[in-house]
Amino acid sequence: MILIVNVPISFSSLKKDLGRAIETDQLSLYYQPQIDMKHRYIVGIEGLVRWNHPNYGLIPPSSFIPMAEENGLIVQLGLWVMREGCRANHRFAARGLPPLFISINISPNQLNSPAFLEDLYRVIQETGVDPQFLELEITESMELERVDQVSRKLREVRNLGIRIAIDDFGAGLSNYHRMHQLPIDRLKLDRSLIRNIHTDDNQRFIVSAIILLANRRGIDVIAEGVEHAEQEKVLLELGCSVAQGFYYGQPMTCSQWEQYYSHHLGL
Ligand code: C2E
Ligand code: CA
Ligand code: CA
Ligand code: CA
Repeated sequence: MILIVNVPISFSSLKKDLGRAIETDQLSLYYQPQIDMKHRYIVGIEGLVRWNHPNYGLIPPSSFIPMAEENGLIVQLGLWVMREGCRANHRFAARGLPPLFISINISPNQLNSPAFLEDLYRVIQETGVDPQFLELEITESMELERVDQVSRKLREVRNLGIRIAIDDFGAGLSNYHRMHQLPIDRLKLDRSLIRNIHTDDNQRFIVSAIILLANRRGIDVIAEGVEHAEQEKVLLELGCSVAQGFYYGQPMTCSQWEQYYSHHLGL
């Protein structure tokens, strides 16, 4: 049983509802900006899925993504997210807004599914998205035996011009190997590493070491969960120039995002 806005909901009823939710357009993709901290401009956005349930209202992904991973619906849900993310730049263009890098979250079971590459190719064709504007965020919680298989898939994705990021980097110890094992373009420093970066010497030291290692390998770094100016200041000092977090903007609906983006561009 989970509690959402004080309404008790049973998992089994939610599980039943999720399949329908995907088909009946109850999902929506929110967007959160990624900011170049030094020059104060938007370098991209991350798409974050929400479920607008007819009875329970807005349900956060932490309540239904694990469920979808478990019952296999993640493939269908992931396909919906890919489509939506790939259409975003067309929507912006219709409003006279320039295209942006779009980061999309890919769950381990979605990446491991045999349909993954085919789904991706199909969505790219269908939507006509320019793959150069896409980034896939993967988590490295996948099992070790699968690294070769996953690397092969990711290389195919990269051959299309799509970037690969490792999400939640630094949240677990195995992470450090993944930087070497997988073909990646970017690391997303986990929020847990950023939280006390302005007060905790050890945290600052760890982040500094990760940035140096990444730089040596030509891998970009983005910090997650930046909530105030002190964290930004330390990150800039350590050589990290891009961040995402409530300090710059919460995840927003597509139309809220278009407003934020227009305003940012001075339109
Ligand atoms: P994530 O990929 O690590 O996404 C970042 C999460 O941190 C988001 O939560 C975002 O709202 C939150 N966040 C951003 N800035 C801040 C900050 O400054 N402070 C704090 N405290 N939090 C911040 P959200 O949207 O609830 O998503 C949670 C997780 O659900 C995501 O973590 C991701 O693992 C998963 N998820 C979300 N959308 C998708 C999706 O489309 N597909 C898949 N497979 N997973 C998704
Ligand atoms: Ca993410
Ligand atoms: Ca993350
Ligand atoms: Ca995550």
